[in-house]
Amino acid sequence: MAEEKEVAARVEELRERLHRYNYHYHVLDDPIVPDANYDEDMRELVNLEENHPSLKSDDSPTMRIGGEVLSGFQKVRHDRPMLSLGNAFNEQDLWDFDRRVRQGLSAEEAVTYNCELKIDGLAVALTYENGRFVRGATRGDGQIGEDITTNLKTVGSIPLRLNEPASVEVRGEVFMPERSFRRLNEEKEKRGEALFANPRNAAAGSLRQLDPKIAAGRNLDIFLYAIANDRGKGLASHHEALNYMQGLGLKVNPQNGHYDSMDGVIHYVNQWLDEREQLAYEIDGIVVKVDNLRQQDELGFTAKSPRWAIAYKFPAEEKMTTLTGIELSV
Ligand code: NAD
Repeated sequence: MAEEKEVAARVEELRERLHRYNYHYHVLDDPIVPDANYDEDMRELVNLEENHPSLKSDDSPTMRIGGEVLSGFQKVRHDRPMLSLGNAFNEQDLWDFDRRVRQGLSAEEAVTYNCELKIDGLAVALTYENGRFVRGATRGDGQIGEDITTNLKTVGSIPLRLNEPASVEVRGEVFMPERSFRRLNEEKEKRGEALFANPRNAAAGSLRQLDPKIAAGRNLDIFLYAIANDRGKGLASHHEALNYMQGLGLKVNPQNGHYDSMDGVIHYVNQWLDEREQLAYEIDGIVVKVDNLRQQDELGFTAKSPRWAIAYKFPAEEKMTTLTGIELSV
């Protein structure tokens, strides 16, 4: 009994802390702890809720996606929710994911995985009607996002017109290249202004400004990684969807990999763990996705994330820049 009480108190403590971290990260774009600390607390809370189901609660941070929608922007309801991803932190988690995938399929059949760099930016949905860019939105809480069309029009790599008059909703990650991030913080320092903690928060903070001139001056970039309404286009796999998007003139990351086994996936993960520093932008892990769209349909979704994908999070090496410009490493 005493133990139950202690667990309940710990659960409350973690929830309060994660709510606070979420608020600073998602609403203020100004995190107060490195992602690894957030992930550790979240993992502990998930485990406690799983082992003590009576403590589950609908308003727990484990049930939520993203943050609140900022007022000042029009709201956009996503036709298909913009979800989060389950996490893997080591090779065993990837093998467990592989086992769940194979068990979730009705027949014993081959599974191919797509590996993508997990760009550390801000998820957006871009809507094209007859080939014209008509709307861009943030993920928000997954169901409702902010209409940031005007700001997204300032991102040079987002085409305002596609190569074909296609009507598609595509999703991707807006990010700030490291060079632009460093330059921005140098300028801010000269002006005595508060610095951005990392490129992710700088990108998010730039896109969620009401004045589009601010986003325009920030050298933002994008990689697209999904079509929300891919059905009916004759596509059989995720990699075909990526090729299709590329053909439309959308920017797709060239480093994507394609593997027939989890061993291949682990090789890709380890390669990028070593080579991530050579990229001109920050990544915080690798996203592994089942390639076959029929298999994706069969596996479906939990309330928060697809069962056919997982995000492998790199171990922390994140630096957070304090207001005084000192870099904190973990
Ligand atoms: P997530 O970052 O674990 O993964 C989902 C996101 O990955 C997607 O929404 C998309 O934006 C992104 N992504 C990048 N490349 C992708 C690709 N190729 N394919 C698909 N998606 C891709 O989950 P989340 O819900 O966005 O955020 C939770 C994470 O944010 C936490 O695990 C933590 O690391 C961080 N966070 C940190 C704090 C903090 O205080 N430091 C607070 C809240 C959240």
